[in-house]
Amino acid sequence: GIRLKDEILRVNQIIDAAQIKFESEGEFTLTNVSLLTENILSMCLKEAVNNVVKHSGATSCFISIEQSWKETVLTICDNGFFKGKMEILAEGHGLIGMKERLEFINGSLELLTNEGTTLNIRVPNDAK
Ligand code: ATP
Ligand code: MG
Repeated sequence: GIRLKDEILRVNQIIDAAQIKFESEGEFTLTNVSLLTENILSMCLKEAVNNVVKHSGATSCFISIEQSWKETVLTICDNGFFKGKMEILAEGHGLIGMKERLEFINGSLELLTNEGTTLNIRVPNDAK
């Protein structure tokens, strides 16, 4: 499995290579989260950034991680243009795979497509 700290370095490189401005906020070394949950967050981050690079046409991408006592929230936001349909979450591919994995660990995926695309990924903290 991949730690979030390692995955953020990889996605930083992918975003740089695509000449998209990268900003991040938060502490990517997690606490109170199981390795399974962290691995799922890493997979979601990778998939979300693949989408930004492949589909968005964005000039900037913002990634943040926030931990409270009960949950961890990972946000991936771009300033491009969402090209899918909202029903995409009921169909195939990357986003639905993310949603299914997150539901398996009682997490959730929220897709916002006002200006660019924002993904809010929430998982309950599940380790001491
Ligand atoms: P796969 O993930 O299997 O390679 P995919 O990327 O097309 O295929 P999803 O990740 O589920 O599938 O995304 C569904 C669709 O939503 C994409 O085809 C694209 O049209 C749109 N989309 C997803 N993320 C973004 C984004 N950040 N910006 C613009 N469009 C997006
Ligand atoms: Mg995809």
